[in-house]
Amino acid sequence: MKILVINAGSSSLKYQLIDMTNESVMAKGLCERIGIDGHLKHTPVVGGKPVFDEDINLPTHAEAIAAVIDKLTSAEYGVVASMSEINAVGHRVVHGGESFASSVLINTEVMAAIEDCVPFAPLHNPANITGINACIEVMGKDVPQVAVFDTAFHQTMPAKAFTYAIPYEYYETDKIRRYGFHGTSHRYVSTRAAEMLGKPIEELKMISCHMGNGSSICAIDGGKSVDTSMGFTPLVGLPMGTRCGQMDMGAVQFIMNKYNLSIDEMLNILNKKSGVLGVSGVSSDFRDLDNASEDGNERAGLALDIFNYWVAKTVGGYAAAMNGVDAIIFTAGIGENSASTRADIAAYFTYLGTELDAEANKKRGSDNVISTADSKVKMLVIPTNEELVIARDTLEIISK
Ligand code: AMP
Repeated sequence: MKILVINAGSSSLKYQLIDMTNESVMAKGLCERIGIDGHLKHTPVVGGKPVFDEDINLPTHAEAIAAVIDKLTSAEYGVVASMSEINAVGHRVVHGGESFASSVLINTEVMAAIEDCVPFAPLHNPANITGINACIEVMGKDVPQVAVFDTAFHQTMPAKAFTYAIPYEYYETDKIRRYGFHGTSHRYVSTRAAEMLGKPIEELKMISCHMGNGSSICAIDGGKSVDTSMGFTPLVGLPMGTRCGQMDMGAVQFIMNKYNLSIDEMLNILNKKSGVLGVSGVSSDFRDLDNASEDGNERAGLALDIFNYWVAKTVGGYAAAMNGVDAIIFTAGIGENSASTRADIAAYFTYLGTELDAEANKKRGSDNVISTADSKVKMLVIPTNEELVIARDTLEIISK
């Protein structure tokens, strides 16, 4: 069984073809600048075929999918003989609102419900819809398409965690509430952590720290998301690469009035010019900040301190919310790669009974327990794998 996993953005399209007999990636790639001019990088993983990395004309997402299928099946770059070997397609869809608490087989009603969520994710959901339509157009209606939502995992949050303390009508009428994101990642790493700890997930309280360009933390009790730091949008929670995280609306109003900014201009600042980039004035990339801080740049050091502090106090809040924690997981670009960030953050948790294994913390690139054998609360690094979750869900749904 071979599943094509698609993550469509407004002008890009990432893909992986996964062989589910052993969950191995057969090929992966990225179409960029769709609708502008076009570029495709296609990397065959099996079969010893060469990489294709060239500008090609990609006027629409359908043409991008056609180019992907062409490469996947070509004699020179291909990993399968024909399109008929691709059994199904799994799509990452950012927002499922309250309609989707799990992944679903796409049909007309599902498409309409994803469309209904466009106002919640005006940049992402339209791109996801375009990607789905492009696959149906190129591959035909008989190839099953499955939607896997970033928000679905968090639908188990109790009302006390997702309800904003604003007039309740805004929830009842407009569904304004905390939704949370990165659900596929939080689900993957928590499932994997339970396997690594050799315990049923139902018996574990875990806190997963997805720390990348976008960052969010999730409290997972018995395998279910009970709270998460992102909200109605992915702007809030932790300070991120360029996003502000938690912010006082009164300060926002003050800045808008003083500098005569429209709400769009202000949101652009809060989304794209804030976070560790805004504080440091150096970069949104933690590697640049580490280097700048080592060279004595105080604002780069402050930006890193703020980030670590917010992770620590959010984890502390979730340990309190769950009345305990058995494991803390680090994942995504920073969580997987930055041993110094993990060590700095872990230094805040010692009151919980955590003990970092400094040697284990240095290892990179694989699933790894980074706490000592005596540590009361375990700490783990688990490289996230959202594509694999999408492929697994797709396989499960089409096998029913
Ligand atoms: P992601 O969004 O998960 O792809 O994470 C991307 C971010 O991970 C980058 O912007 C960097 O800030 C961070 N990152 C990647 N590698 C390292 C590293 N070795 N040390 C520190 N940060 C890293």
